[in-house]
Amino acid sequence: MGWNYDFCIASVLVLLILVIYNGWIIENKNFTMKMYIFLLILSCASCVTDMFSGMVLMRKFKDIIWVNYLGEMFYYSTQHAIPCCYFVYITLISKKINYISGSMIKWLIPGAIEQVLIYTTHLTGWMFVYDENGYHRGPFMWILIVGTGFYLTLGLLSVLSERRNIEKRYRVVSVIFLVVPAFAVAIQMLHIDLILISASIAISCLIMQLILQNPRMIYEVNEKEIEARLAAEEANRAKSTFLANMSHEIRTPMNAICGMADILAGCDIEPQEMDYVQTIQTASKNLLDIINEILDFSKVDAGKLELCPVNYRLDEMLRDVENITAARIYGKNIDFEIYVKAGVPVSMNGDSTKIHQILVNILGNAAKYTEKGTIVLDVDWLSLSDNKVRLIFRVSDTGIGIREEDISKLFIQFSQVDTVRNRKIGGTGLGLALSKGIARLMNGDIDVTSEYGKGSTFTINIEQDVLKYETHDSSKFNKYIAFIYEENLGSRQHLASILSQIGLEYVLVDTANQVDYSIFEKYRQENKIFLYNYRQFARLGKKPPDGIKSVALIEYNEIVQKSDEFKNYIRKPYDIFKVFDALFSDKQSKLDTKHIQKAIMKNVHIAIVDDNKVNLKVAATQLREWKVFAETFSSGGAIIKALERGRQYDIIFMDHMMPELDGIETTAIIRAMDGEYFKNVPIIALTANAIRGVQKEYEEAGMNDCLFKPVQMEQLEEKLIAYLPEEKVEIVQ
Ligand code: ADP
Repeated sequence: MGWNYDFCIASVLVLLILVIYNGWIIENKNFTMKMYIFLLILSCASCVTDMFSGMVLMRKFKDIIWVNYLGEMFYYSTQHAIPCCYFVYITLISKKINYISGSMIKWLIPGAIEQVLIYTTHLTGWMFVYDENGYHRGPFMWILIVGTGFYLTLGLLSVLSERRNIEKRYRVVSVIFLVVPAFAVAIQMLHIDLILISASIAISCLIMQLILQNPRMIYEVNEKEIEARLAAEEANRAKSTFLANMSHEIRTPMNAICGMADILAGCDIEPQEMDYVQTIQTASKNLLDIINEILDFSKVDAGKLELCPVNYRLDEMLRDVENITAARIYGKNIDFEIYVKAGVPVSMNGDSTKIHQILVNILGNAAKYTEKGTIVLDVDWLSLSDNKVRLIFRVSDTGIGIREEDISKLFIQFSQVDTVRNRKIGGTGLGLALSKGIARLMNGDIDVTSEYGKGSTFTINIEQDVLKYETHDSSKFNKYIAFIYEENLGSRQHLASILSQIGLEYVLVDTANQVDYSIFEKYRQENKIFLYNYRQFARLGKKPPDGIKSVALIEYNEIVQKSDEFKNYIRKPYDIFKVFDALFSDKQSKLDTKHIQKAIMKNVHIAIVDDNKVNLKVAATQLREWKVFAETFSSGGAIIKALERGRQYDIIFMDHMMPELDGIETTAIIRAMDGEYFKNVPIIALTANAIRGVQKEYEEAGMNDCLFKPVQMEQLEEKLIAYLPEEKVEIVQ
């Protein structure tokens, strides 16, 4: 055996050991590891075929040409597949991925061409030729050499392009893989008898094994990764706890600010003073929204935000969103239009508060970033199954728009785009990230398209459960005709399109003079409805006609007084539900009177337990609104003593966090006291802790309900009505 084959044998042995070690001894092999083993097998096969075709076939079976061709082809094939495979492996490892990406596949095309050239060389003679005189290099053999250089260089570049993410050892390996075989090829080209390529491959693989697949190194790297992950998780937890604590600490003084401002607003004060108070109310509401947003975001971030599904009505939720948006665009030259696709189910089950939050957020942005034009809310739906739908809300505006390069940054937390132009517009950069997080919880998403300078469209899609599908018999509408008197073109068109969607015929009454009421006689339908802009009509000194149903159209902020001479009205912005209710049902009057109902309470005794004196004062003053007897206690121990002395209350409001006995412990003691009263007295938690799971904790502790600080008058009233004995509350309209 010639000395030059000793290298080959040694190389085969080394590579075999590596194949066995990595293939059999190492467990849990991922795709990258399998690729590495494949590379070793190819290298081993290349060394074997090199030796075999050179030593056995060429020398012992020189005359059997086809066998020699085959041997050489196998050798060339495996040898030139190595660089290609090496490139794939090193790219996977440096990019830290476990699959062959689409972009990688296109780089493999030259390798495939090489293989075709090798296996067709007996026809073309391009790579090499074998005849009775032996082996000869072909005229295009250089292609294979260039191919090898190409893949080794590509592997090196791939490593260098990721140098920030990977360690130095990867660069060392790729340089070795490039330099050692290049050196070997150069020598072998010059001295055909020095068979060094196989040895160079084995050396490179051995170095690769020692540096990249070294178990100790891998162990250390894994350890480092685990450490880094734990540190990141810990930091995230600390951030979430900090945000939750901060929100708690801010909520407590906010309770005093909001509560006192509400009380002041209910007092008989000068208009100017009222103006100041309202400013405090609006500012504190805004501050509260920001705190809630931060808190929610910290929950999404920590994967703790949970959906609280309830039964709700889509129309009522939308009405609220529309009112908030209408208030935000007030004073701007913006038309706000709402289009709802026919047949959308109204009775739903889902987390309506969070959908409300997303819509308020996105419509709020539209209002913030639009100065004039139109904001459109489109509500669309798709049926997914018998009781599941996908709701699609599309919010389009004619505002400043977003640059294409900024769109990808929109949903990143704390990021505001186009800050130079938007510097006068406030914001936290959290809204969209939070909204997307919530939409994803509902198996949905938020997408955006925008044209810079022209406007944007945000599309929110979410899954919801349907409780009941609404069915309307639209055939009855052909007995109706509507007459619209509305001077504002945008409003008129919007209303007209809603009427067409309902399937109602309508006539536009251009000028008030046209309303000489003889116009009504011209139409055959028996039911005529007159829709008129209340203010514009009053300005003309006209009154709606007697004898036909008339519906006043009023601005969103118009205060309806008893002296106003209309029974039915639609408050802008219009939506199909409002229009439908005003035209065909008496539901509207119920809704509108809701806020003027009043609860009168008789002989009601309430206990408030809170260690914070300001909060006690706020709650007691808030309760004064209903003329109840409120007693305050500054600790859990104090209320227990009072109860033991025989004092009884209709409701106990209990703070959560208190020194010594906290709200939960105090409740447990009260519930354990002897007597039916103690088991049943309603205990409502007062808490500044608006984070997940507290409600459940209160329930488990025996509390009946909870109120979040800052406590709002309406919510307080709601709880009083719900928990007081019926005979002690009277609701008057
Ligand atoms: P912010 O509280 O700052 O409004 P968001 O996450 O809601 O935070 O929005 C992020 C950024 O996206 C905003 O600062 C703004 O630059 C841009 N943006 C959002 N909505 C619109 C819109 N309708 N038109 C133009 N830009 C928008």
